Amino acid sequence: MTARKTAIVTGSTSGIGLAIARALAAEGCNIVVNSFSDTESDHAIAKEIAADHEVEAVYMQADMSKPAECRSLVAKAAERFGSVDVLVNNAGIQYVAPVEDFPMEKWDAIIAINLSSAFHTIAAAIPFMKKQGKGRIVNIASVHGLVASPFKSAYVSAKHGILGLTKTVALELATFGITCNAICPGYVLTPLVEGQIPDQMKAHKMDRETVVREVMLEKQPTKEFVTVGQISAAAVFLCSDAAAQINGTHLSIDGGWTAA
Ligand code: NAD
Repeated sequence: MTARKTAIVTGSTSGIGLAIARALAAEGCNIVVNSFSDTESDHAIAKEIAADHEVEAVYMQADMSKPAECRSLVAKAAERFGSVDVLVNNAGIQYVAPVEDFPMEKWDAIIAINLSSAFHTIAAAIPFMKKQGKGRIVNIASVHGLVASPFKSAYVSAKHGILGLTKTVALELATFGITCNAICPGYVLTPLVEGQIPDQMKAHKMDRETVVREVMLEKQPTKEFVTVGQISAAAVFLCSDAAAQINGTHLSIDGGWTAA
């Protein structure tokens, strides 16, 4: 029997991360589901993934705003499953405010969760991947890793940063059978996006429908939200053998937003 691969997906109790966890499980990976909380429903998600896909899946609490917890998540996963083959850095939060009013603690939290956590998990995963001579790192960046939008100074800064981290890690690990790439989604309809709507309504003084049409999908040429399934399919591809020579780059899934 060939050993199953182990995939850690940070921030995988919801939205894009959950879809990626499910898709990697469908490919036969054992899964580490993660978030900062520790509720019955967190553990139920892992149980459901395990049952649906006949793999092992465990929920591991770790707060991605805390460097030590980022690193111990990887260590615990390796201890539990014996290897770390796939690392998907997905955990992320958003906050929307004009730069001069942007709360300092929100800036710090966004940089910690959306950028620094990936540095810590990658650093912790590299020794395991090097030992195996194989590994896949996928960072969930954003269209905001490539272009900016107003009122999102911390998010745009973190996402531009994660593309720099992606390229640097790719160069450092290129001869070890390990690839590091990023996915840059446009607007995907997830709880994170739902949560932005009230802030955007306030910032732009618009009603919900107008914010969705004129602010969110205004820049997405297809005028359709990206689906979580489209993102998870790309993540599965980047983790496949077929993607072995795709390294240090990003895949935009944004309906053409960054073509403009
Ligand atoms: P979501 O809010 O649905 O899910 C975020 C996940 O991260 C949740 O599981 C949450 O519990 C977890 N999380 C939050 N803070 C955490 C912490 N401190 N420690 C551990 N886990 C934590 O969001 P989503 O829309 O699925 O976003 C996932 C990723 O995709 C983020 O990095 C986001 O920036 C990126 N992204 C989303 C969109 C979009 O339109 N939804 C677009 C581009 C990029």
